[in-house]
Amino acid sequence: AAKRSGGNRMRIFNEQMRVSVHERIAAEKLLREALAGDREQTLPVWFQPIVRAESGEIVGAEALVRMRAADGSIIGPGHFVPAAEETGMIVQLGEHVLIMALRHLMEWRHDLGYISVNVSPRQLAEPDFVPLLADLLAANPELDPKRLVLEITETALLGSSVDVRERLETIKRLGVRIALDDFGTGYSSLTWLQNVPADVVKLDRSFVAGLSSDARKSSIIQAVLWLAKSLGMSAVAEGVEEEADRQALHSAGCELIQGYLFGKPMPPAEFSERIQRSRMATTP
Ligand code: C2E
Ligand code: MG
Ligand code: MG
Ligand code: MG
Repeated sequence: AAKRSGGNRMRIFNEQMRVSVHERIAAEKLLREALAGDREQTLPVWFQPIVRAESGEIVGAEALVRMRAADGSIIGPGHFVPAAEETGMIVQLGEHVLIMALRHLMEWRHDLGYISVNVSPRQLAEPDFVPLLADLLAANPELDPKRLVLEITETALLGSSVDVRERLETIKRLGVRIALDDFGTGYSSLTWLQNVPADVVKLDRSFVAGLSSDARKSSIIQAVLWLAKSLGMSAVAEGVEEEADRQALHSAGCELIQGYLFGKPMPPAEFSERIQRSRMATTP
């Protein structure tokens, strides 16, 4: 009987594996087609507001890519970014996202301070990445490069053959800012902080959500905010869903926040409307 149930477990396990391999292959195929199509349609880049904790005023946005399936449905990056990284298609995908982000930053330049773009380890390791960035900035001379922020995660440092620190220094010399994404979730956050010339830390949602009613989270946040400040970095808290958390972050001295409380990622047309409205609200 034991053997039999073991066999069942094994079968269930294999079933799940099979589904996930299938999904991966399907994601790869969809992505390949999307990249070959009209990317603006097939790979829409959406924007989520980054706001002042004090007033809710929109100061920036994070660009977050989506995929539009043939039936019109929207697929989140969790379903295809991993496949993009494994296959190297992230390089083309990332270029598309950067182009769209800069185009919209140009369009919104009078109403929006900056746009933050996620950059995967594989993209950063690519020798053509810095030249691409330099070309795109040169094509938009009206934009101060510091209005572009590149978000990188700790895994960019691990197992990379290129000298990531060196590469980040080069990027910073272009004037572009660097943010440490999902800060606090990795294995070596402090080493990371010591070695990487970053300008911004993004406090991960896992210790932001519900912080107002959790003394431990609150202590961690305060310590990280202090650390960031001492290092001359600014901080953005991710995943703010509740007013009580906004207040707690504001009291703790966290100036910038991002989360569903202020808006989910939205298509550029909708984001445009948001910043127009918020501008009308503050214009005398
Ligand atoms: P991330 O960079 O940490 O982005 C933040 C994620 O948290 C986004 O999910 C956003 O929708 C979600 N989020 C923001 N506020 C809240 C909140 O209040 N509550 C909850 N529950 N979630 C919130 P999304 O758009 O699904 O993106 C997931 C991840 O996919 C991103 O995490 C990033 O690592 C990756 N990604 C997205 N776009 C790109 C891209 O263009 N390039 C690369 N390399 N990765 C990307
Ligand atoms: Mg991010
Ligand atoms: Mg993040
Ligand atoms: Mg995150």
